[in-house]
Amino acid sequence: MPESSSLPSETAGLPVATVVLKPKRARPFFGRHPWVLDTAVLRVDGAPADGDVVDLATHDGTFVARGLWNASSKLRVRLYAFDAATRLDDALWKARIAGAVSLRQSLGLADPSGAARLVNSEGDDLSGLIVDRYGGWLSVQVTGLAMSHRLETVCDALESLVAPTGILLRGAERGLSKLEGLHLPDRLVRGNAPTGPIFVTEHGLKFGVDLTEGQKTGFYLDQRDNRQAAARYARGRRVLDMFCYSGGFGVACAVSGGARSVLAVDSSAKATALAKANADLNGAANVTVETADAFEKLAALKAAGDRFGMVILDPPKFARSRASLDDAMRAYHRINRLAIDLLEPGGILVTNSCSGAVSREDFLVMLAGVAQRSGRTIQLLECRGAAADHPVSAGCLEGEYLKCIIARVAS
Ligand code: SAH
Repeated sequence: MPESSSLPSETAGLPVATVVLKPKRARPFFGRHPWVLDTAVLRVDGAPADGDVVDLATHDGTFVARGLWNASSKLRVRLYAFDAATRLDDALWKARIAGAVSLRQSLGLADPSGAARLVNSEGDDLSGLIVDRYGGWLSVQVTGLAMSHRLETVCDALESLVAPTGILLRGAERGLSKLEGLHLPDRLVRGNAPTGPIFVTEHGLKFGVDLTEGQKTGFYLDQRDNRQAAARYARGRRVLDMFCYSGGFGVACAVSGGARSVLAVDSSAKATALAKANADLNGAANVTVETADAFEKLAALKAAGDRFGMVILDPPKFARSRASLDDAMRAYHRINRLAIDLLEPGGILVTNSCSGAVSREDFLVMLAGVAQRSGRTIQLLECRGAAADHPVSAGCLEGEYLKCIIARVAS
């Protein structure tokens, strides 16, 4: 598979074919939505190879946008420019990456010992590319085939902008790779690989991140500010951090928030080992970790009559698609109901959903259902999303996946 933009057509960044839309299907793209699904395509004038630059036109020949072609994906074209003058060439990718990096600098996220998402796919007009920085290392995740053809250009840009110690390539989620026809094994693409876990700071706390073994890209950067927001309510409380992974919420509550104690639970023994190490690293002696299934543990705590002043729920994606939405909503209802039952009057619930298929409204309606069934009053204090280094394009709201609700359960 070509990994450099050495094809003449790609280097020039000009279209080799025109993708013609079915009548009445152009509206989202005039609204700058970057995903053209196979079902919207009437015909293709020309014979583009996967990764080639194509123009998108209405059925009567009006230019709509310019993008990259992938015949192996339902997402036939990803759009990157909405005017006919812009070439999709190396200069454009470099300028987009530079713009993304400069945004993070302006957000105050350039601390060399910190961690930040430098490129957030559609949110940075770079559909199919995610780049996270952990101290001196970069973790690059390519979720679009055409971007994988431009990996060398991407790495050149990143090297010149942030001079990383090393750049690691992380495969996309297995399902996603299959949908895109992507076969990218995890590997080191530039510089040196870390020899063990690396340590990053977040709001003054230290976290060990295992870049080669960890989940996602090593650490849940999207929750950075939500951990801090949750910690502001933790003072003096007994906190339950359910689905703790490497302990981000629990450690923030114990150390920054002054919680009385924290019980951090995850079903993965690797995760709880990381959480324990991170609690120790920050001198949080009042954090206890336990490896257990959340549903069972919540029910057992309830049965034992345990009560908490704060419960954090940060489960994995329950809904992978709209089709599994009903099951997912039932699962959210169940854990949130169990969490509420564990909260003393005036307790704080920090409840998250990272399922893009679940809308903010769906999630709030679920909470309303929990309030009704439990007979408790739930006061919404903060309705939050991902941190600002995870920007969402107004033209592609599918990028808004994280809901973090901080609520008080009054009585
Ligand atoms: N709160 C974490 C991120 C949580 S990610 C942070 O701030 O970093 C979701 C976590 O849920 C993963 O660590 C996963 O191992 C865990 N998990 C998945 N299913 C679970 C279950 N049934 N019970 C408990 N934990 C589970």
